[in-house]
Amino acid sequence: MAALNNHLITLPRHPHAPTPKPSFLTVNNGRHFANHPTLSLIDQCIDTKQLKQIHAQMLRNGLFFDPYSASKLLTAFALSSFPSLDYAQQVFDQIPQPNLYTWNTLIRAYASSSEPIQSLLIFLQMLHQCPELPNKFTYPFVIKAAAELEASRFGRALHGMVFKASLVSDVFILNSLIHFYAACGCLDLAYRVFVNIPMKDVVSWNSMITGFAQGDCPDEALELFRQMEAENVIPNDVTMVGVLSACAKKLDLEFGRWVHSYIERNQINMGLTLSNAMLDMYTKCGSVADATRLFDRMPEKDIVSWTTLLVGYAKLGEYDAARRVFDSMPNQDIAAWNALISSYEQSGKPREALAIFNELQLRKNVEPDEVTLVSTLSACAQLGAIDLGGWIHVYIKKQGMKLNRHLATSLIDMYSKCGDLEKALEVFHSVDTRDVFVWSAMIAGLAMHGRGGDAIDLFLKMKEDKVTPNAVTFTNVLCACSHAGLVDEGRALFNQMGPVYGVVPGVKHYACMVDILGRKGRLDEAMELIKNMPIAPSASVWGALLGACRLHGNVELAEQACRCLLELEPQNHGAYVLLSNLYAKSGKWDKVSGLRKLMRDSGLKKEPGCSSIEVNGVVHEFLVGDNSHPLSKKIYSKLDEIAARLKSVGYVPNKSHLLQLVEEEDAKEQALYLHSEKLAIAFGLLSLGSSQPIRIVKNLRVCGDCHSVAKLISQLYDTEIFLRDRYRFHHFKGGHCSCMDYW
Ligand code: ZN
Ligand code: ZN
Repeated sequence: MAALNNHLITLPRHPHAPTPKPSFLTVNNGRHFANHPTLSLIDQCIDTKQLKQIHAQMLRNGLFFDPYSASKLLTAFALSSFPSLDYAQQVFDQIPQPNLYTWNTLIRAYASSSEPIQSLLIFLQMLHQCPELPNKFTYPFVIKAAAELEASRFGRALHGMVFKASLVSDVFILNSLIHFYAACGCLDLAYRVFVNIPMKDVVSWNSMITGFAQGDCPDEALELFRQMEAENVIPNDVTMVGVLSACAKKLDLEFGRWVHSYIERNQINMGLTLSNAMLDMYTKCGSVADATRLFDRMPEKDIVSWTTLLVGYAKLGEYDAARRVFDSMPNQDIAAWNALISSYEQSGKPREALAIFNELQLRKNVEPDEVTLVSTLSACAQLGAIDLGGWIHVYIKKQGMKLNRHLATSLIDMYSKCGDLEKALEVFHSVDTRDVFVWSAMIAGLAMHGRGGDAIDLFLKMKEDKVTPNAVTFTNVLCACSHAGLVDEGRALFNQMGPVYGVVPGVKHYACMVDILGRKGRLDEAMELIKNMPIAPSASVWGALLGACRLHGNVELAEQACRCLLELEPQNHGAYVLLSNLYAKSGKWDKVSGLRKLMRDSGLKKEPGCSSIEVNGVVHEFLVGDNSHPLSKKIYSKLDEIAARLKSVGYVPNKSHLLQLVEEEDAKEQALYLHSEKLAIAFGLLSLGSSQPIRIVKNLRVCGDCHSVAKLISQLYDTEIFLRDRYRFHHFKGGHCSCMDYW
């Protein structure tokens, strides 16, 4: 892009230069040769080889030096059904004085190629070298290339040139500008171009509807469709693709079905693209039955159709059906594997995702690509499967794959979440070009591990590196302040967000801020912040306040926070647990049982605690009170041994951490011992050498009792325990935890 900007600065003499003689001379010349027999052969060529032969012949007989004939040959190379842009470029370079038509041909060909940047570069070259001004056949394509590249400044400059060239009433150019502004995310500007088109054609409508649909404004898209109908503009298949994508965004199945029948009633051509858009709409709206019916009737299917259906089933949790679709695919290319892996990974089934990845490894004919590795690394992160995650890291190196920002971000995230912060930092330092996502992932890693000061330092370094922080970066750095108890730093960053960085604080940032204040016991200040929020507080904001109330034993405010939270999320089990723990802590046992009754009556199910631990590349999962593990007997006797050793050093179980009121004291003690993380720790002590750290991932927040037990075990057994709960990391070593009992 640097090259582009340089060119932009020296931007051309043209708009003010006197209009050069139009190129009728060359056209006249062309007419002279138009009927030459060699030229008629060009249209009959069926591959590049034949074209090259004609090229050679034309060079021999001098026909090539007639501008019209050379242009015709170039067009065949650039825009035929078998385009060869490299060769087209070579032909172009041989033409002594390419005319406007020739320049336009090359610009157009590159605009639709995989290298749209070439289109812009050739346009700039043309401004300096072509004696004619760009015309209405130049702009639509160069603007298209700018849209492809989301080259916002370049595109705006083009708009200005269009204006100066008095081409602002050309509907083709205006349509391309709508597309350009929408692609750059400037929907308001796109709409302004749209409304000012005096004679809109169907493409104008389509561009705007698609722009709205893809830019997360589905309501506006559908409204425009209605308006189009009202103005009696006849929609085509492209219109309907946009409308369906808006339905999919709105999850409006009824409207989607209506659109389907509308398409049939109006006999709009149901080609592959439109059929796929409809499949996508049905699966996104959750009706895989409609999708399957449509799929079965589709005369032509491609990889997109198959994977859409597959993902549709997987999203609904119908994994067997998804698998059946996968197995019946005519060819399972890597995209299909990726669809299967990522749908498991994204629906909280990381184990299944890893199983599919292993299966893929056994197939010799497909190689994992970047998408596969990103999904698999994310599954490893969820499970804490550091062995496999590390293996993928080695694989990336072995394959000589470039550690781009996607892979780097995923690796940093995986290592951080698996408890190996040093490795995460190593990856971070090995990347040469770090974008905002790489920085943010590393800040998140430091935050998770309670290294708030380092996270802030990294944030400042990022600023020095001239990388602009985004909303995610701020969530991560505020989270770091919260975990490390850095109130002043957190508040300063929060206050700078809008004025200094132009990032409007969102609900997540408020939640972090409430957490920061609340944890330090500044509950009034936190409440004040919530009251003055310009946006409605979300469940996470109330959740943060509730958590702080629990920590500081403020029952009254906790009840208020819990009420507000449950209004927004009636099924939030964690809220009940927190409040109940608080009641228990302050000895209000009657309120505990009242709450339990309420939970039973509202049919609320507790999410069962589950902890996983990886031993020699195999992930073992434990539920609360689990005895399904093959080594269960040994695990329980290990637990007994641990209990005895703990008692001997004076440890007393913390009963207030039990939600359930158990009459018998022994039974209560027993239940505490059955928490999944304790089972996992016992298993870790059994199966790992004492020099190997125990790495555990838990799906819920760790309870106070397990936390104290883990601290003691790290001391008594001289071992390191990394425990990741739903909110953060705990690194237990020598009787202490990295969270400093602050979670
Ligand atoms: Zn516990
Ligand atoms: Zn801790």
